[in-house]
Amino acid sequence: MARCRMCREKATVFIPHHRLPLCDEHLVSWFERYLQRTITKFKMFPPHAKILVAVSGGKDSLVLWQALVNLGYQADGVFIDLGINEFSLLSRRVSENFAENLGRKLHLISLPKELGFGIPALKRRTRKYCSLCGSIKRYFLNRATRTLGYDVLVTGHNLDDEASALLGNVINWSLKYLARKYPVLPENNGFVRKAKPLCRFTSFEIREYAKRQKIKYLTERCPLSPEATRLVYAEIMDRLEEQMPGTKIRFYMDYLRQLYPLLQEKVEDFLDRDLVRCEVCGEPAVSSPCFVCRLKEEFRSQGI
Ligand code: SF4
Ligand code: ZN
Ligand code: ZN
Repeated sequence: MARCRMCREKATVFIPHHRLPLCDEHLVSWFERYLQRTITKFKMFPPHAKILVAVSGGKDSLVLWQALVNLGYQADGVFIDLGINEFSLLSRRVSENFAENLGRKLHLISLPKELGFGIPALKRRTRKYCSLCGSIKRYFLNRATRTLGYDVLVTGHNLDDEASALLGNVINWSLKYLARKYPVLPENNGFVRKAKPLCRFTSFEIREYAKRQKIKYLTERCPLSPEATRLVYAEIMDRLEEQMPGTKIRFYMDYLRQLYPLLQEKVEDFLDRDLVRCEVCGEPAVSSPCFVCRLKEEFRSQGI
């Protein structure tokens, strides 16, 4: 192994994207500096912002939370219990232990309490349960960020997630999604400011940071497993990266630099029609009642 680029001691890791050999100590400092540079580059939030981290118990969200706190940010967490039996119990326990060690507050939201049912009940009714699960999570995270008085909601999406989702959007020419695919979205019409500070980090880099910070994260995957197409896009991106290293970051960053600004000129044409307020819960929605209130009603009327 080569010598660490910063201190010339023996390197313990090589970061291919940046051609950087690093020792344990400098991997941590490099990671946090690069995170700060990403936050600044995309003007995600100012130093004194009150930040809410969407925490799942997995490596990405816990690493993000830890690194933000190490950088001096005021960051608390929010965990959504999806009602997926053992898996939800375990992820909640991991998140609570982590919050306690970090000395920060963790807000809890329980879908079975809020909705009267969990994600497994949705799976029994629709094949699109993952899309629905994602929308439900976004609804509750948005509401919690606003009502609890935070300035910005941050999520642990990493480069691998963003590049494979971008591939899916390009293959389907989902202009509506592409026009909103940016690592920071401003507050708008009841929707809170959102940011993805790990968007330039690979899973590998995040795992290496987690190891050196001794972060105990959940390695189990959701037993309901993601919809097949998502896995296919992720596998294709991994294969491209293997054959042509640097493909993911180029694909994603060139999209942000070159195509995203062009889409913004026509953004109104792609986005949903005007938003309204849901007459039941008061949240912003494309129509009233919103999809969450309609789902709740549907389940209630069928006695589920
Ligand atoms: Fe929800 Fe699907 Fe993720 Fe499970 S895999 S948490 S159901 S989006
Ligand atoms: Zn070093
Ligand atoms: Zn509603």
